[in-house]
Amino acid sequence: MFNVTPIPAFNDNYIWALTVPGTDDIAVIDPGDAEAVNDYLTQNNVNLTAILITHHHDDHTGGVAQLCLQHSADVYGPANSPFKGINHTLTDGDQIELLGQQLIIHEVPGHTLDHISYFVAESSNTPPNIPQVFSGDTLFLAGCGRLFEGSAEQMHTAMEYFKSLPDNTQIYCTHEYSLANLAFAAAVEPDNAEISTAIKRCTQLRDAHQPTLPSTIAIEKQINPFLRYHTATVKHAAEQVSGAPLNSEVAIFSAIRDWKNQF
Ligand SMILES: [Zn+2]
Repeated sequence: MFNVTPIPAFNDNYIWALTVPGTDDIAVIDPGDAEAVNDYLTQNNVNLTAILITHHHDDHTGGVAQLCLQHSADVYGPANSPFKGINHTLTDGDQIELLGQQLIIHEVPGHTLDHISYFVAESSNTPPNIPQVFSGDTLFLAGCGRLFEGSAEQMHTAMEYFKSLPDNTQIYCTHEYSLANLAFAAAVEPDNAEISTAIKRCTQLRDAHQPTLPSTIAIEKQINPFLRYHTATVKHAAEQVSGAPLNSEVAIFSAIRDWKNQF
């Protein structure tokens, strides 16, 4: 597993810095802002050797060109991306080795058509490793990304993938949207005590200017309405808002996504 440190950027982005013990080389995920990354490199006296991109949006890729001028870094990203700065293209099922760690690539279109996630599996190393997933703008704490390019069906498929990961997997998404997402989750499921607990925990963290991330798959299965389309409570809430029966998980997911857009 990686040591993961947030580099805050813009209003609510996190550029994740990935390090491992024993080397000064680091990788970053979705560097929308080169200056924020350069400040981090200088302050910590480390070398940028790799950049991972989840999707093409400017707040995830805007710093890549400048960083590549200043550093010798490999740029990994989706093969079908309209972003032109990628020199190691990735598709579903690919594996890459980075700082001695294996990352498994999974395509998770929906927010954009080129969106991929990066999963670091548990290994048998000691001390024990915890799985990690870098989900970009797909799975957020208590939320999911807007459907700018893809369909509800595609995002539902992506959510099914995240649900299939080990429960202890740590989730690193790109935005600090947790409190707004939790306010919506509480509107969908007012009686869900886990959501109330998460609101208290995240409020304390934000009051202390700390990130609310990472979340875990186990927590998200309990609080995230975009992973809970199979539950009677979320189905009922979605049907109330739509005013019609919803007979598939995709239809329920889609109704919840539409509701959130107007929340
Ligand atoms: Zn995006």
